[in-house]
Amino acid sequence: MTLANGNVKAALGYLEKNYGQFKDTLVELSKIPGVSADGYPPEALKRSADATAKALRDAGVENVQVLEIPGVHPYIYGDWLHAPGAPTILLYGHHDVQPEGRHDKWLSPPFEPTERGGRLYGRGTADDKAGVMAHVAAVASYLKSSGKVPCNVKFVIEGEEEIGSGNLGTFLQKYKGMLAADFIVLSDTANFDTGVPALTYQLRGICQVDVEVQALDHPIHSGMWGGPVPDPVQILCKLIAGLTKDDGSLDIPGLYKMVAKPSKKQAARLRALAFDEAKFKKEASMMKGMTLAGEKGHTVYEKLWTRPSLTVIALEARQFQGSSNQIIDAARARLSLRTVPNIDGNKAASLLKTRLETKPPYGAKVTVKTSRKAVTPWWTTDPEGPAFEAGRRALKAGFGKDTAMIGAGGSIGFVGPFATMLGGAPCLLMGVEDPKCNAHSENESLHLGDWIKCMKSAIYLYDELSRVSPKKKR
Ligand SMILES: [Zn+2]
Repeated sequence: MTLANGNVKAALGYLEKNYGQFKDTLVELSKIPGVSADGYPPEALKRSADATAKALRDAGVENVQVLEIPGVHPYIYGDWLHAPGAPTILLYGHHDVQPEGRHDKWLSPPFEPTERGGRLYGRGTADDKAGVMAHVAAVASYLKSSGKVPCNVKFVIEGEEEIGSGNLGTFLQKYKGMLAADFIVLSDTANFDTGVPALTYQLRGICQVDVEVQALDHPIHSGMWGGPVPDPVQILCKLIAGLTKDDGSLDIPGLYKMVAKPSKKQAARLRALAFDEAKFKKEASMMKGMTLAGEKGHTVYEKLWTRPSLTVIALEARQFQGSSNQIIDAARARLSLRTVPNIDGNKAASLLKTRLETKPPYGAKVTVKTSRKAVTPWWTTDPEGPAFEAGRRALKAGFGKDTAMIGAGGSIGFVGPFATMLGGAPCLLMGVEDPKCNAHSENESLHLGDWIKCMKSAIYLYDELSRVSPKKKR
């Protein structure tokens, strides 16, 4: 047995004995309501950053700092760099969380992590505190058993991932020198299924626009004026409905022209994945009898990962409470468009703006606001070469199952800019989420069995990557 294998064994042994302690830390971190969205107290993010920094220090990670940039939720950095000659891995995760959503829909309070049926329920348990803790536990297991990690490791834990990483550019500019690495490992993505590991090689991007329809100066009596006077709520609904054609495709002129055709290899990868429509619908929580939407002629995985999609994420007119027989003056909506290679997010937002503002019904005043900060780029990589092979071996060792090569419909702004900054360093996206985790919704939960498998995989991964020459990245 080689020395490295001995260390792996010792680390796995330490993990097994001390799993309860790592779980306790995860529970403590998940009690902090570090919501990064507008309107939530930024102090909670500060507390969450401090608690995460403490978890890193307790693990034996060195040079741990909470990095503050004015007006930006804090990032955390830490490293362990005592593996001379071995490659350096940058481990990414985020400590901010989504808003809790509808409080009454939670079966246990969102910030009181509760275990039920092998899952830990609570906001942020899966996304992404378990991702962060998987690597904290893996590094700790090495350091507390053999005193060393097979690779050099750097942690960067973000505080604004859930709001689109709008200040990432500023962050990178400031801390570029500190973050140099040979490989990037992110744990903020989903597995193919419960117990089935995945490496994600493509992420969609996102852009957001706010559309407001103003028809009147002030609300008026719907009986005295209704009929000849147009209703801005109906105009807005028509505008939104007009963005999708009957065949399910989007009606945003110029958008599809930008979409890249999947390569032969990618098409083969997509075809290799099993799909069960009934299971998919159930996991998406669709009502019985409903059919799937989207473009004809594309599979579900293609629609999710390689085609753009549009969602109305907010709609405001008049609340039920206080409503009366009025034509109200204005209505507004926030639209989010998921982008794919090679759609330029800013261009897509401007196409959407043009589409909505051109010839509005009854000549209503339609104002569309776009923001560069509301654009997160897509990302893709060719998941071949020694680093990805190392990743697949590590996941197989941790989960006992072959790794599915998947795309993700969601967006992580960090990946593209970091990979570029590090000269095209291979990015391995492995996660702890499963289709039942309900990330971003009520009753978010972590499958604890998969979490342990992910921690074990991380232990194997550092060892596997220690033998990959950084020069042979691709
Ligand atoms: Zn996340």
